[in-house]
Amino acid sequence: MRIDWTDLRAERAARLHGATVDIEGWIVSDDPLAARERFALIGEPSCCLACLPRDPLARIEVFATTPIKPDGNGVRLTGRLACLDDDEMGWRYQLRDARALASPVAPGFTRRAALAGGALFGLSSWAPLALAVEPDAAAIAAAREAMGDTVTADLHSHGGGVIRMREPNAPFVPLAAPMREGRMAVVCLAIVADAPAIAPSDNNTRIRPYRTPAQGELYNYATLAFARLQHLVREQNLGVITGAAAMRAAHPDRPSVLITSEGADFLEGRIERVDEAYEKWNVRQLQLTHYRVNELGDIQTEPSEHDGLTAFGADVIRRCNARGIIVDVAHGTTSLVRRAAEVTTKPLVLSHTSFATTPGRFSRLISAEHARVVARTGGVIGIWPPATIFKDVTAYAAGMARMADAVGVDHVGIGSDMMGLLSGSALPSYTRLPALAAALMARGFNAADMRKLLGGNYLRVALANLT
Ligand SMILES: [Zn+2]
Ligand SMILES: [Zn+2]
Repeated sequence: MRIDWTDLRAERAARLHGATVDIEGWIVSDDPLAARERFALIGEPSCCLACLPRDPLARIEVFATTPIKPDGNGVRLTGRLACLDDDEMGWRYQLRDARALASPVAPGFTRRAALAGGALFGLSSWAPLALAVEPDAAAIAAAREAMGDTVTADLHSHGGGVIRMREPNAPFVPLAAPMREGRMAVVCLAIVADAPAIAPSDNNTRIRPYRTPAQGELYNYATLAFARLQHLVREQNLGVITGAAAMRAAHPDRPSVLITSEGADFLEGRIERVDEAYEKWNVRQLQLTHYRVNELGDIQTEPSEHDGLTAFGADVIRRCNARGIIVDVAHGTTSLVRRAAEVTTKPLVLSHTSFATTPGRFSRLISAEHARVVARTGGVIGIWPPATIFKDVTAYAAGMARMADAVGVDHVGIGSDMMGLLSGSALPSYTRLPALAAALMARGFNAADMRKLLGGNYLRVALANLT
C-alpha cells in the first residue's frame, strides 16, 4: 500500500501497524554517502548533515534487509510499518525488513512539494540526529553557560536518602553538594506517605498495596518521615522554600528544597491536617495519591474505586489552593486529573511521568489527552527518568521533547524521583543537569526553552500557587 507523510499524521496511521507499505522520502544517517542498514527516513531533504526533525510524526526509523545508499533525489522504500507507543528514543514509526523499490521518486514529488509538506508538518525545529550520543565535554560546558543562574527545579525527588525509613538513623547521602555542582536550585523533596502499606511485587517491577494500615499509623509514620527530612535539611544546610518570596529568591548557588509528600494518606480523611502539614512540616506541595487507593481518589496502578477524585479529594484541593500548597496529581487516574482540573483555581503539577500514545492498563505513563488536562490549568508535567524507559540523558531529553510536542514547551519539566526508583535512572545525580541541558540543546531546543524545561515552567506554576 502506498502511503505518504500526511497519512502518518492521521489517526488511521495506527491501523497501518504491521501492514506492508511503500513511502518516499530522504535518508538521514551518520554518513550522507554510505549505504546503511539502519537510518532515518524523512519527508523532505535534510537541511544539514545528520539532521532530524524533532517531530516523531515526521520521521521513520528504517531497518533495511540490505544496506541502502542515500540518494539526493530521494528514495522509495517498502517494508512493514510498525507503530510504536513506548519507544525509548521517541520513534513513533519504524519500517522493518525494508528494501528500496526500483522506481525512484515519483514525478511531481519535488523538493518544493516536499517543503510545502514540511510546513504542513509544522517542522519548526530541526535537531542533530540523536542516536543516544552522550553530549561531549564542550557541549556540556556551553550548556552550563547557557543555564546561567536559571532557577532550575526537580518536581519530585527523594534525594539524600530521605526515605530510608527502615533504619531511621541511616546516614544521609550528599544532596546539597551535587545540587550545587550541577546548578540545581530547588528540589521538591518528598516523603512517601503510604510506605508502610506498599511493597514491590511482580518481580520487583511494580509496587502495590499489601495491607490496610491501622488508624493513625500513616499519620504517625508521616510525623517520623518529616522529622527525618528536617534532619537532612539541617545537616546539609539546605534552604526551605516556604512561600512565593523564597521561591523568587531561589538561586543555584544556594540549594533549596520545597517540602512535599508523595501521597496525602497521612490526612486519613481529616481536612484540618492540611493546615497542620502546612504549619508544622512546611509542606508546600502535596501529591494526592500514590500506590494505594486512598481517601482522595483513584490511582493509575490499581482498579478504580472512586470514579476519580473523591469529594474529600476535592476539598483537599480547595484547601491547598487557599493555603498556598501546590497540588500534584502524579499517580492519579485520568478521571482524577480531569476532576482535579475542574476543582482547582491554580495550575496543577503532575510531577513524574512520561508520554505514551496509548498507555497500557496500570501504566504510570500518560496519554496526550491526560497531559493536556494538566497543561490547560497552566500546569507543568515532570518527566520521569527510569532506565527502563530512557537509557541515558540523551534518550531522556528525547522524552522531554516528546511531551513538549504533545502539550507545548511551557508545560514540561524534570521529575527525577531521585533515590526512589526500582531501576536505574537516566538522571542519577544532579551533577548531570548540565549534561541534560546539553542534550536538550542538541535536540533543537533554544537556550530560553531549555531554561523553561529545566525549571522556568515549574517556577511559574509555583509562584501562581505559593503565598
Ligand atoms: Zn511516584
Ligand atoms: Zn517518588
